[in-house]
Amino acid sequence: MTAKTLYIKAQKEKHGTLHGTSGRVRCVFFRFSLLFSIIPLFLCLFSACRETAPLSSEIYAMDTYMELKAYGGEAEDLLEKAEKEIFRLERLFSATSAESELYRLNLSGSGAVSPELAEIISVSLALSRKTGGAFDPSVRPLLRLWGFTEDEFRVPSEAGIAAALERVGDERISADGTEVLLNGCELDLGGIAKGYAADRFAGIAAESLCGGAFANLGGMICAAGTKPGGEPWRVALQSPLGEGYAAVLSVSNVCISTSGAYQRFFESGGKRYHHIIDPSTGFPAESDLLSATVIDESGCFADAVSTALFVMGEDASVKFCRQNGVCAILITEDMRLLCLGGAEDFIEEVSGETFTLCIG
Ligand code: AMP
Ligand code: MG
Repeated sequence: MTAKTLYIKAQKEKHGTLHGTSGRVRCVFFRFSLLFSIIPLFLCLFSACRETAPLSSEIYAMDTYMELKAYGGEAEDLLEKAEKEIFRLERLFSATSAESELYRLNLSGSGAVSPELAEIISVSLALSRKTGGAFDPSVRPLLRLWGFTEDEFRVPSEAGIAAALERVGDERISADGTEVLLNGCELDLGGIAKGYAADRFAGIAAESLCGGAFANLGGMICAAGTKPGGEPWRVALQSPLGEGYAAVLSVSNVCISTSGAYQRFFESGGKRYHHIIDPSTGFPAESDLLSATVIDESGCFADAVSTALFVMGEDASVKFCRQNGVCAILITEDMRLLCLGGAEDFIEEVSGETFTLCIG
């Protein structure tokens, strides 16, 4: 029985209970019931109008523009809480701000850290091991050398890269509870911190009575719950070729992270150098992918793994996703939109002539 027929049946049953009442009582009852059904109808229409227009806010945090949206009665409260939380996380995880906790840890090399910094470090180390070091939070010396941390881009010397590589490698880092020992390494959480923020955003949305919330944290998407009325969120997957989109996804209750060379780069001597470093070479990853997108309930996982897949390239990414059941969309140089782990189920539309949908 559909929801509509169930509703009709319930209405009939309700109507049937009036049959035993006298004519006058029935008439008064009818007027009252009419009044009481009109008021909720107006309230419903009013709240439906409110629901169709989400509240939104824009902030600049974690070195990127972020857009937050929320529907329903508690939307304002949710946005305020989420903004505060993102700025708080920035003060913990920034590698460049002298006020941040991570900055102090990089400087001292060891010590007791807050439970949240300890948590993101241990998740990063676990994902570094899982991805065979393609995602490695200890790439900071290389990022600094290439000038990606301070936006003072330069192509370093081979000797400089070799020296920086000496200080990269997660195996030297140890985290025992909240005690962290870097052993000469330095951490950069730029490949996972927005995922952590997305997870916190989802947590805040789940605690709130708002009617659905959505965040675009500089390319890291958190689609918390659904849109009002149970509708899924429609998310555009950016085309790595520039303006426009490659596909439209239809999702609810997930995080989506995309990594690509087009997001941050500089040019020197006619060559393009981007911000995703291959920790095994010390150079920007020579990926045969234009972008790698991961869809997962965990923002941390989606964020770190999308960075790793980009570094790995197509063949290793396909193998990794199959082995680990990762839901991913890889955009290849020959414009295939390669779906893995059932990602095709989320695709509502592919941007026509340019991209071809393939299931791997
Ligand atoms: P994403 O945009 O999530 O792919 O992450 C890119 C950011 O992560 C860069 O701006 C760096 O801060 C950092 N990063 C670059 N290469 C790596 C890597 N191989 N592993 C971990 N983090 C990286
Ligand atoms: Mg990432």
